[in-house]
Amino acid sequence: MNDAEDAAAPEVATPERVAELSDNLDAARARLAQACTAAGRDVDDVDLLVVTKFFPAADVRALIGLGVRAFGESREPEAGRKAAELRADTAESLAFHMIGQIQRKKAKTVGRWADRVHSVDSDRLADALDTAVAAALDEGDRHTPLEVLLQLNLDSDPDRGGVVVGDLEALADHVAGLEHLRLRGLMVIAPQTETPEVWMERAASIRVGFLDRHPDAVEFSAGMSGDLDEAVRHGSTCVRVGTAIMGARPIRSP
Ligand SMILES: *Cc1c(COP(=O)(O)O)cnc(C)c1O
Repeated sequence: MNDAEDAAAPEVATPERVAELSDNLDAARARLAQACTAAGRDVDDVDLLVVTKFFPAADVRALIGLGVRAFGESREPEAGRKAAELRADTAESLAFHMIGQIQRKKAKTVGRWADRVHSVDSDRLADALDTAVAAALDEGDRHTPLEVLLQLNLDSDPDRGGVVVGDLEALADHVAGLEHLRLRGLMVIAPQTETPEVWMERAASIRVGFLDRHPDAVEFSAGMSGDLDEAVRHGSTCVRVGTAIMGARPIRSP
């Protein structure tokens, strides 16, 4: 994209690292396939989103070589830098999803690189993203509307983000009315206080009412390494897996 990146040869992962990522990816795919079979679902109905936050572009490049095309990121500006770098040197069409909480002042850059945001939880954030996407479309930095999932808060701990159930409908209506956002579904993060089976069932029942009113918003981002089986059983369309594929996150981000 810019001169500095053009000049630098892209970093590549070591053969050992590529082998490790390949093995982990195979295992995660096998586990997802098994969960789908157990739930009587088609494996193609559940996306595996590889969460690459904190890991260098070289790892993402290795994953692209292994056939991965969609990545979950949660930190700005790390995410935007990686997305720009990888798009500049990859012919494949890549999707970058923002899955973490977004400070409103960072919405501007997220609106440039993100194909989908899983973590919209307020009118103000939705408005900021809409404005950012409008500008990015205008400037030719992007060519599509931003897909949006609403993050449900199931444990009422405001620090973990998400909209409480009582405010979900108003937020959904607000997002549906914004020109540059497309309401695509819901996202949940495991609350700390309940077993996956209990809270997934609650999330799934909230989703039934939501789908009644927004029948096109069918995406359901739910499940990570620890609760993938329950999530798939309760209708997840996207599991977000980081550690099980990438290994333990480094302390410092690239
Ligand atoms: C980091 C993250 C993940 C991945 O978590 P792992 O435990 O590393 O698999 C999933 N979802 C969200 C929202 C995250 O921030």
